[in-house]
Amino acid sequence: MGYTAFHPTYETLIFRIDRPLVVTVSEPTASPLLPALDVAILQGTLLSWYQRYGRQLPWRQTRDPYAVWVSEVMLQQTQVKTVLPYYQRWLTVFPTVQGLAAAPQQQVLKAWEGLGYYARARNLHRAAQVVAQEHGGAFPTGLTEVMALPGIGRTTAGGILSAAFNLPFPILDGNVKRVLARLMGLDVPPQKALDRLWVLSESLLPPQQPRDFNQALMDLGATLCTRRQPSCTICPWRLYCQAYQQNMQSEIPVAEAKAPIPHKQIGVAVVWNDQNQVLIDRRPQDGLLGGLWEFPGARWSQGKRWQPAFIANCKRSWPSKLRWAIA
Ligand code: SF4
Repeated sequence: MGYTAFHPTYETLIFRIDRPLVVTVSEPTASPLLPALDVAILQGTLLSWYQRYGRQLPWRQTRDPYAVWVSEVMLQQTQVKTVLPYYQRWLTVFPTVQGLAAAPQQQVLKAWEGLGYYARARNLHRAAQVVAQEHGGAFPTGLTEVMALPGIGRTTAGGILSAAFNLPFPILDGNVKRVLARLMGLDVPPQKALDRLWVLSESLLPPQQPRDFNQALMDLGATLCTRRQPSCTICPWRLYCQAYQQNMQSEIPVAEAKAPIPHKQIGVAVVWNDQNQVLIDRRPQDGLLGGLWEFPGARWSQGKRWQPAFIANCKRSWPSKLRWAIA
């Protein structure tokens, strides 16, 4: 079956599904990891696949860097279907970066409620204040300036700059790590080969179409090159994918040794005064559920009495404001 992919940089690429037939390439991109010809074909086939099967997502309908930024932050460790309703609501409540910067933190955390990883919301809020105060409300376009904003690492910066401004910065989120690890047949966990994966992501990026290419790479990871049972038989990269060629999709990416999940028992108390006011406390800004309100509590160790630790915590938080009458 014939297959034609058009790519403006590399003219027209024509393939068969089982093997390349004719490839016409002009000025191919050099890559330390892949022959230039392969890079051109990988770019062309992925862009062509994306044109046909790419997902229609609301943040792809805009070039507003603020809206793109919100989507990128929400999508960190969260699936698209979960993010969709939050994204729409967020832009209704905070339609501009200035609006977000001026909002009280409690309103920001409330709008984020249910998405988890609240540090993302606190960082987004702080970063909006930096953009409003230090950049006059205009999202910066330099990688260094963007990465200096709270909560934005290299992959989020690349995602925003390529999607909003079509600038040639690569990405390397969890899905992309998996795709590229399989493509190159990586024999170590991706975390141990980040430099090589970044080089590959950058080498594959066509300078004229970074926006579409990065979005296509994300879609490939989310829809075909899934963690379990990837759909290799319909993948545009199967001819070049080392994992597929060696039937090692279930072994790659190599799993990282997992740290044990910490297990803590926390006791909480409902404390009220003679006016029926209930005591609640705000968690520290940094760390789990930072900035949210909670009943006061303390760690509870097996076989130990809980009240002394609880009272010590409360005395630290409110020295002189509480009197104790606990049996
Ligand atoms: S051929 Fe399979 S394993 Fe390789 S990139 Fe495509 S979907 Fe992923």
